[in-house]
Amino acid sequence: MRALEHLRWPFFEERHRAFAATLETWAAHEVRDVHDTDVDALCRRLVRQLGVAGWLRHAVGGIEHGGTADLIDTRMLCVAREILARHAGLADFAFAMQGLGSGAISLAGTPEQRQRWLPRVARGEAIAAFALSEPEAGSDVAALTCAGRIDGDQAVLDGEKTWISNGGIADFYVVFARSGEAPGAPGISAFIVEAGTPGFEITERIDVIAPHPLAKLRFTNCRVPVSNRIGAGGEGFKLAMRTLDVFRTSVAAAALGFARRAMEEGLARATKRKMFGQTLADFQLTQAKLAQMATTIDSAALLTYRAAWQRDQGESVTAPAAMAKLAATEGAQQVIDAALQLFGGLGVVSGQPVERLYREIRSLRIYEGATEVQQLIIGRELLKGLGG
Ligand SMILES: Cc1cc2nc3c(=O)[nH]c(=O)nc-3n(C[C@H](O)[C@H](O)[C@H](O)COP(=O)(O)OP(=O)(O)OC[C@H]3O[C@@H](n4cnc5c(N)ncnc54)[C@H](O)[C@@H]3O)c2cc1C
Repeated sequence: MRALEHLRWPFFEERHRAFAATLETWAAHEVRDVHDTDVDALCRRLVRQLGVAGWLRHAVGGIEHGGTADLIDTRMLCVAREILARHAGLADFAFAMQGLGSGAISLAGTPEQRQRWLPRVARGEAIAAFALSEPEAGSDVAALTCAGRIDGDQAVLDGEKTWISNGGIADFYVVFARSGEAPGAPGISAFIVEAGTPGFEITERIDVIAPHPLAKLRFTNCRVPVSNRIGAGGEGFKLAMRTLDVFRTSVAAAALGFARRAMEEGLARATKRKMFGQTLADFQLTQAKLAQMATTIDSAALLTYRAAWQRDQGESVTAPAAMAKLAATEGAQQVIDAALQLFGGLGVVSGQPVERLYREIRSLRIYEGATEVQQLIIGRELLKGLGG
């Protein structure tokens, strides 16, 4: 099938191709274009479905804790996100958040933390969330102020988090808070906070253009055992960055999935739509548009899977992952816009796949490092060591 042709590229192994073919069939039957006005119920259902089918095992690390590998295989993660995003944005969201939310535990959890959470995350029985951003600390995340003070054998959390995906439906949140070992980034630790912990509340649900569970959180004298800290005190910021490092390339893959779906929709429309005695696709102007869309998609795919492959070889992917995210998310926005244009008025009708994609792609250019942040990362890497 055309959508999986790139799996023949040398970045992939036979196991990736076999995985992609099985997931493709499953996604086409089980989650294609799923929607529900109750996004909470839908996301809960999707997490469960993805868990029962075994797909979530690719989003957690540790074979003995339900994962398929000890280190998350970036190419598997990317292939999964690309396929799920092409079929249904919320299925991709549910998959990705299980990985991102439990990522710090996969990377640095104690044996007890891993045993308690990862098998349930992998089975879709516990929903995970990643709570880093704050109202005054988004791109400049090291400026976070939520406190995580150690008091004997407890950590006491006080402060706010915002834009937390799965906020309101998660069973546990990995919360990054200022524990004060040092000023700035080295004074942040990561803590597991279970839903229902006294002093922890969801203060607002946030409605966005492509709805998914999203919330503001508040912690008021919220006490958790120090044993809920992931890694050593003061290692939280590094851990957050390491987690994002795993998942950043997969955001590019999700964007790629959205772009491929837009391409499929655009091609179908252009070849069917009659006008001026021929079809829309017969016009060279349309062919130029389609050619640009296809080229943008392939460029993004090459950058995405280069970064995924390099990461799986154990290489540092700071710049390659940033390039992949930048090119794939910005490119997907252009591809989707062009596809919508091919639909004319029909493209802006609520519920049309291209209209949905047009809304869904937008936040990928903002979260896990906005485009400008990716540009800064690439620039910094280019200039590193050049001196002056
Ligand atoms: C749908 C959605 C889901 C999210 N889910 C989560 C989640 O689960 N957990 C979590 O912790 N966070 C989450 N976030 C938060 C996300 O990571 C932040 O929105 C993002 O980091 C940007 O922070 P901000 O919104 O505060 O924007 P700001 O930091 O205020 O940035 C605004 C804009 O400034 C520009 N900019 C940033 N830095 C620079 C610079 N150095 N130079 C020039 N321009 C710059 C960018 O264009 C950016 O979009 C989510 C956000 C969205 C929209």
